Amino acid sequence: MRGDFLTTGAALAAAGVLALGTGCAAPDPGRGAPGAPFQVVTTIGMISDVVARVGGERVAVRGLMGPGVDPHLFKASAGDVRRLAGAQVVFFNGLHLEAAMGEVLEELDHWKPTYAVTDSIDRGQLRAPAEFRGNYDPHVWFDVGLWERTVPVIVAALSRLDPAHAAEYAARGASYGAELRALDAWVRRRAAEVPPGLRVLVTAHDAFNYFGRAYGFEVMGLQGISTAAEAGTADVQRLAGVIARRRIPAIFVESSIPRRTVEALQAAVRSRGFRVRIGGSLFSDALGDAGTPEGTYVGMVRHNVNTIVGALAVPTAAAAVEVGDE
Ligand code: ZN
Repeated sequence: MRGDFLTTGAALAAAGVLALGTGCAAPDPGRGAPGAPFQVVTTIGMISDVVARVGGERVAVRGLMGPGVDPHLFKASAGDVRRLAGAQVVFFNGLHLEAAMGEVLEELDHWKPTYAVTDSIDRGQLRAPAEFRGNYDPHVWFDVGLWERTVPVIVAALSRLDPAHAAEYAARGASYGAELRALDAWVRRRAAEVPPGLRVLVTAHDAFNYFGRAYGFEVMGLQGISTAAEAGTADVQRLAGVIARRRIPAIFVESSIPRRTVEALQAAVRSRGFRVRIGGSLFSDALGDAGTPEGTYVGMVRHNVNTIVGALAVPTAAAAVEVGDE
């Protein structure tokens, strides 16, 4: 919308971004003393982590969306716009994940290196669910093999910014890529511990479809791909019926979605005479706290997989107590 564009443009102009594009004598944003770390701003924590691994001590990474923050609904504050304006390079997910930041990111792209890390992924490998009306499913990080494709984008971007250390970025990118391939193999081994009939993942919103596709789980979300639309009573009842009928032992809450959404589902299942457990909390669209294992991409994936496998790969009798069964 025109109004939004003007607002965004005005905010960026105020922050000094637009002046750079007009060839004014403004200094490069964020450039400190020679040898000082490059100022990088990202959106979600998963991207911050890859950039930090590839960039090492040569980058200072600032993620706008911390633990528990929902990227679908996140709006850039005046402070965020200032941080973006001060960055030397910006990385975001793309595929409309950062839906409410679209205008800001588009505008920023005219003035400084701004990269959607998912641009490197072959469109044919992206999910294009009908209910998402012509857009792709943005939650690519749950297929570890797909997420690995973001590493070369970041290596190339940092090398362009800092050609003198390109070999270093390439080496760190290669080593992190190998770590992700080992993680992918580990997820496959763990997923195979769940009996095929129980490989059903029920969560608050549809973040896990890439996970399901890559590792053989059927995925059912209470909300759609974006959290912008709240789950209605009909959705809850429909999903509750499926869970009770198929005796799915556990459902999961998500770190960036209110817990009550899943608790309402649990209550609806119970009213149908089946008791489903909440199998634990999964990180979906945000990492855990910095300094904890879940504060890294690898640690977050491991936590999710251990939680899912731990809740589903147990004998059904122990996992679910049926109430009022005939
Ligand atoms: Zn999401």
